[in-house]
Amino acid sequence: ESTSWIKKNLPGAKVSGGVSNVSFSFRGNDHVREAIHAAFLYHAIRYGMDMGIVNPGQLQVYDEVPKDLLTRVEDVLFDRSDDATERLIQFAETVKGEGKKQERDDSWRELPVEKRLAHALVKGIVDHVEADVEEARKGYARTLDVIEGPLMAGMNVVGDLFAEGKMFLPQVVKSARVMKKAVAQLLPYLEAEKAEGASKKGKVLMATVKGDVHDIGKNIVGVVLACNNYDVVDLGVMVPADKILDAAVEQGVDVVGLSGLITPSLDEMVHVAKEMQRRGFKIPLMIGGATTSKIHTAVKIDPHYEHTVVHVNDASRSVPVVSALLSNEQRPDFLIRLEEEHERLRRQHATGQNDGKFISLEEARRNPFPVNWDDYMPCKPTVPGITVLEEYPLQELVDYIDWTPFFHSWEMKGSYPRILDDPEKGIEARKLFSDAQSMLKRIVEEKWLKASAVIGLFPANTEGDDIVLYTDESRSRRLAVFHTLRQQTRKPIGQANEALSDFVAPVSSGIADHVGAFALTTGHGIDQLVREFEQAHDDYNAILLKALADRMAEAFAERLHERVRKEFWGYGKSEQLDNLQLIQEEYSGIRPAPGYPAQPDHTEKNTIWDLMRVEANTGIELTESLAMVPTAAVSGLYIAHPSAHYFGLGRIRKDQVGDYAKRKGIELSVAEKWLSPALAYDPD
Ligand code: SAH
Repeated sequence: ESTSWIKKNLPGAKVSGGVSNVSFSFRGNDHVREAIHAAFLYHAIRYGMDMGIVNPGQLQVYDEVPKDLLTRVEDVLFDRSDDATERLIQFAETVKGEGKKQERDDSWRELPVEKRLAHALVKGIVDHVEADVEEARKGYARTLDVIEGPLMAGMNVVGDLFAEGKMFLPQVVKSARVMKKAVAQLLPYLEAEKAEGASKKGKVLMATVKGDVHDIGKNIVGVVLACNNYDVVDLGVMVPADKILDAAVEQGVDVVGLSGLITPSLDEMVHVAKEMQRRGFKIPLMIGGATTSKIHTAVKIDPHYEHTVVHVNDASRSVPVVSALLSNEQRPDFLIRLEEEHERLRRQHATGQNDGKFISLEEARRNPFPVNWDDYMPCKPTVPGITVLEEYPLQELVDYIDWTPFFHSWEMKGSYPRILDDPEKGIEARKLFSDAQSMLKRIVEEKWLKASAVIGLFPANTEGDDIVLYTDESRSRRLAVFHTLRQQTRKPIGQANEALSDFVAPVSSGIADHVGAFALTTGHGIDQLVREFEQAHDDYNAILLKALADRMAEAFAERLHERVRKEFWGYGKSEQLDNLQLIQEEYSGIRPAPGYPAQPDHTEKNTIWDLMRVEANTGIELTESLAMVPTAAVSGLYIAHPSAHYFGLGRIRKDQVGDYAKRKGIELSVAEKWLSPALAYDPD
């Protein structure tokens, strides 16, 4: 591509190998940037530049730069007038926002069919797949040759570009969509010819473990592996160990890949590893998902299975890892390095267990976060008790979206809006963002999703580390109790051993404090649509929709919290914050979520559910691991005190786990199970 571009545009230039990146920064305006790029290169060659390094993906054809723009650009390049720069900037303003004009270059349609398929795969263009595939099929003796020939060749290019960091995840998922559509169209012919299907590099089973329903990450890894010619058997979500391992045997897979998002899934993964050992499996076990980690894999999972256990947390890493695992040449080295790493992590963890780093619960309680309750005048909620919000207007949530995590879910690191102008990722980030905007518009206008929520504000005071809610202002009858956990790490002087209960007034203060709770979802209605996309072999839009539903849920949490502060509770009536300030939590109070660092115990969700009849009021259910279904859901507490803040619990000792179990009325072993990632000791 570079060569032909250069020959066409830069007559006389010699082309040699080597790749780098030259970027012209004209923030926010690809149109102008590319024009500068093109003009600069064109003239540099004419003036005798010896060597240039270009990225063909960001090049505009010199002759096709609009003349009015080109004149202004060249005025700057040749310093033709004193105000050339100003004039270019002014001109740029007029084309800004209008975005890059979609110059549809259809010249690739003239190429032979193999080249057209390769082009469509690399660029992720689905428009002509049907016709091109049909044409190719007719031109080949066997249908299988179409797959193993041009389609595979195209996907290999995609795989290489991704591995080299020249393509980003959203592009790869779009390429996979083209491949899937092509293969689906050929399937009936393959069956008629009784062909076995294309030969694959290996078979990988993927599943989200029992009790967990999150699958964006798993689906992305599946797409990327499939795209690299691995056969992917996807068992979906909430899959029990037996079902995973039975399927692994029946299908003769080469690797088992487990995924999970919430902490209880970590234990379930340990269970699957133990089962693999018990049943005499030998194939590698691959671990991934948001709460999984190299350290947990090394310390908690690996020791239970004598064969390979490897942690892979992003899609781009999954391909080299699986390929090393299945390659006779690479495997020995890979396994030695993996084992060394696991050993190192286990040693590191053992040092972390050192008891001297922790203090007793009693000592920790003597060092709470200091709040001077005598100076505090709590605000009484304007709307006390429970409020249910049904069919909440989606349009109202759009402006509250935090886009940075959206790019992260596509493995594009960087923060919004800067990422849109990133010299490397900017162009792809913009395409993804524009796809997201179009879908968001449809989500809102065509009511693809339904938002419901329940919130509650209750009289509350603390007793020790418990937050007690009362039925009414007389505070004589208990309605519910939230149990909090206290940091037990030895702290430097001046730092507290915090618990969430520190931010609520103790009974002994005589202050009439309050606490709130909420649960909300924007996920109703999503399943049907995701199914439709998947049936149309469109993982790109299926993943996009899930990622957007998650964003809407977080936006809903942000908006509701704002309304609680301003209306329902009323302590933030005069607050005036824009979305960035909201994202940066510049308001007073917090909304800590069970399962998050300040309160890692997911079972506190049960209390929220009982307290506000969450399932009946919003339709959000809890799985046995206490994952919320629909997944686009958020729940937590509201705490109003101005010094309330998020913190991480860190690890806790057995004295506190015992005390906590007693307070909650559960067995020690049950508390240890739910708190297992937070334990500073080994309960076994
Ligand atoms: N703007 C982000 C908001 C979600 S993350 C987004 O759109 O994704 C921030 C939320 O996570 C907080 O509002 C709180 O509910 C929860 N959270 C963060 N840190 C926490 C902690 N240490 N303990 C408990 N909950 C926490």
